[in-house]
Amino acid sequence: MFLKQLNRLRRSLAFRLTLWYAGIFSISAFLAFFFFYFLVIDVLRSQVDEDLNRQLRAFAGIMQVDGLEGVRRIALQETQAGGEAARLIRLLSRFGTEFSVSDQTYWRNIGVDSEAIRRLLTEGQPVFETIGIPDTGDSLRIIYGSIGPGIIMQLGQSLAPQMRLIQAFQRLFFFTMAAVIGLAAIIGWFLARRALSGVGDIARTARRITQGDLAVRAPVSRRGDEIDQLAGNINQMLDRILELITGIREMSDNIAHDLKSPITRIRGLAEVTLTTSEQVADYEQMGASTIEECDRLLDMINTMLVISRTEAGVQELAWQSVDMAALARDAVHLFETTARDKAIQLSVAANEPQHIHGDAPMLQRMVANLLDNAIRYSAQGGKVRVGVQAGSAGGVEVTFQDNGIGIQAEDTARIFERFYRCDPSRSQTGTGLGLSLAQAVARAHGGSITVRSEPGQGSTFRVILPFNADKIGEK
Ligand code: ADP
Repeated sequence: MFLKQLNRLRRSLAFRLTLWYAGIFSISAFLAFFFFYFLVIDVLRSQVDEDLNRQLRAFAGIMQVDGLEGVRRIALQETQAGGEAARLIRLLSRFGTEFSVSDQTYWRNIGVDSEAIRRLLTEGQPVFETIGIPDTGDSLRIIYGSIGPGIIMQLGQSLAPQMRLIQAFQRLFFFTMAAVIGLAAIIGWFLARRALSGVGDIARTARRITQGDLAVRAPVSRRGDEIDQLAGNINQMLDRILELITGIREMSDNIAHDLKSPITRIRGLAEVTLTTSEQVADYEQMGASTIEECDRLLDMINTMLVISRTEAGVQELAWQSVDMAALARDAVHLFETTARDKAIQLSVAANEPQHIHGDAPMLQRMVANLLDNAIRYSAQGGKVRVGVQAGSAGGVEVTFQDNGIGIQAEDTARIFERFYRCDPSRSQTGTGLGLSLAQAVARAHGGSITVRSEPGQGSTFRVILPFNADKIGEK
């Protein structure tokens, strides 16, 4: 259980971010400290060197004034005052022969570096070197310099005080580094948790959606950061998915309903005929009605297929030049009888030929659907006008104007959905597929259909088709 939790923690993004943060922070602190450490060592060494140089110059001055004896005397005083452990003073000839030397018990008889003397003589500059004393762990910084003609001084100073400072610095370094790593881990963990809290909320939302609650949404704070943008986008995506699911649900409900009614009718008629009729004519009537209902069903299923295929762009279209004006006049001619039955005044204004490239049978179906609607949703004695003219933005514009029942504003956005039928139309015959097909055809031709309607006053459907629809169709 504990191991499982540890494993989960190890894989978590917050843990990895914390590690990165603590790692980078600690390395930066380590580098800064290291740089500072070497700087301190360098400054300390230069101070010692400066000090040794100063002493050497002082002895050179004494040499000039009081000669070698004076130097010996002052050197003795110096070693006694500074403590024998701290100082080493040796006087040498230019060949390295010793004139005199301070007490060397502590320094374990440090010798003379002939190479250093050679360098001093050739370069004419004081030469420095550092010597470690293995038994005591102490170190000695030495300068070789000339203090008078043919007289070389070897001057040494213990580095013990500097070493103590450096050791104190090292201890401080380790403690500070431990504190820095600890602090970086705590701050890193806190920052990572804070930054990722939104991600956790989104993950929880996704889990609840998976469990079936499609209405939950990821919380969006007011910060407006990337996590909020992600949550906002996910919420928008969820809204869209819910909309599509509702649409599909409604559509399948509608399909089930629309298929159920004719099948129930066929079954009812068959049952009544079988139980009550003995006449052959009744059976013939039943057969005819069955065929009629089946034709309607097949027509509906075919229309659904055509809409799906056209919308998906897989419906083969026979591209050719089509005169929309002639096509509209023919359609009006076909519907004259239907219009006359309802005493509807049907007129067409399509005098100028208006050619576009398109699929004539599909365009005929589109025009027929729109014209059929205009007549069906108009009252007895109404007026329906079809107009074909050049579109204001190029292409052709076909309008279907009626003074029928009209459409409520909230329905106009939905009438192009498959199976959608406004409430007043439910009592009329129809499948709710006519406008979906019309819109699919218009879109397949690169065009569009818009509607303007006033309930009780009438509706105007406007189809806009571009000239070069074939180019769009070939894409
Ligand atoms: P339907 O087979 O029901 O006519 P459509 O897809 O052609 O299916 O139309 C969808 C709905 O839009 C119709 O049921 C009707 O409510 C509304 N509608 C379409 N055309 C008109 C119109 N000219 N006047 C009023 N309502 C209309």
